[in-house]
Amino acid sequence: MNHLNFAPIVIPRKTKVITTSIKKAAFYLSKGEVVAIPTETVYGLAANIYHENALHKIFEIKERPFYNPLIVHIDAIESLSKVAINIPEKAYVLARHFWPGPLTMIFEKKASVSNVITANKNTVAVRIPNHPVTLELIRKVGAPLAAPSANPFGSISPTSAKHVENYFKNKLDVILDGGPAAKGIESTIVGFKKGQVIVYRLGSVSIEMLESVVGKVKVIKHSTKDPIAPGMLQKHYAPKTPMIMSKNPLRTASNLLGKNIGLLVFIQTGATSDYYTEVLSCNGDFEEAAKNLYASMHKLDSMGFDLLIAQEFPNAGVGKSINDRLARACKKDTNFTPNNIFI
Ligand code: AMP
Ligand code: MG
Repeated sequence: MNHLNFAPIVIPRKTKVITTSIKKAAFYLSKGEVVAIPTETVYGLAANIYHENALHKIFEIKERPFYNPLIVHIDAIESLSKVAINIPEKAYVLARHFWPGPLTMIFEKKASVSNVITANKNTVAVRIPNHPVTLELIRKVGAPLAAPSANPFGSISPTSAKHVENYFKNKLDVILDGGPAAKGIESTIVGFKKGQVIVYRLGSVSIEMLESVVGKVKVIKHSTKDPIAPGMLQKHYAPKTPMIMSKNPLRTASNLLGKNIGLLVFIQTGATSDYYTEVLSCNGDFEEAAKNLYASMHKLDSMGFDLLIAQEFPNAGVGKSINDRLARACKKDTNFTPNNIFI
């Protein structure tokens, strides 16, 4: 009993932010909140595309520059017409082959699609995620969801609900847990020009996979000047710890005495080293390596190393996409210049 004779104030304990309740996530999305959602690529920060305020909130939470558009997530090919017009025939071929899955396609946007989603472009990026929880969520909400990756702008993408919580503990009410992301790197982004398929961002769907379905594609190199797809920025997906790439991380590390170094390698080779090492795939499988990539980067980044050394992957298939992410993770203001210690 307190001396003023008032009933004691009960401060409600904050309910857990991570949940597996699709119903709860749908409720929050329907009332205009931002909810973190699982996908097979990485976790996303989602809003109902028809809630303008929620769309703005995504940019605030992520501290994402306004020029960086969001991907619209739909649940079925038939929903494409809700957001896109003049859909080329090749897009349907790709959609039938890769959707639901980690392929984002850029179309002319329908006038009703918010400019907040498209960063004032007249195009919209769309995909069907291959995750049963999020597909059910989209159906429950009854509208497409716009979502970028659920990380602060430029940082390592999240592949688990815990990664999202670590980034945005106090900024989100709901993080929908759908388990670890099965693919682990972002979607491949393609567009269409004069009947040709243009690849703007390498991702889980490799160039070889695309070409086996639609023939030769054109790959655009990333640029900082006028990124058509801002996922093409040179510096992105970066840990806070300086990182460099090397064909032989162990040798590179042994040339850098006095540094506390962590290694990120594709396959464990040779004897156990003196360095803490994250191995991405025990049996040399690109898909497994992609799945583990960001979790290993998050872990290494939390361990207080002076420098991380990542092994360059063979330049084929999804290995190419992993090299793309590693190269951009290495672009950071650092005293270590990758070029002069490449061996
Ligand atoms: P994130 O999921 O964080 O990789 O962000 C979504 C990415 O999709 C952006 O960074 C862009 O690269 C790409 N994107 C989204 N909408 C468009 C668009 N209309 N045109 C080109 N790229 C887009
Ligand atoms: Mg991102």
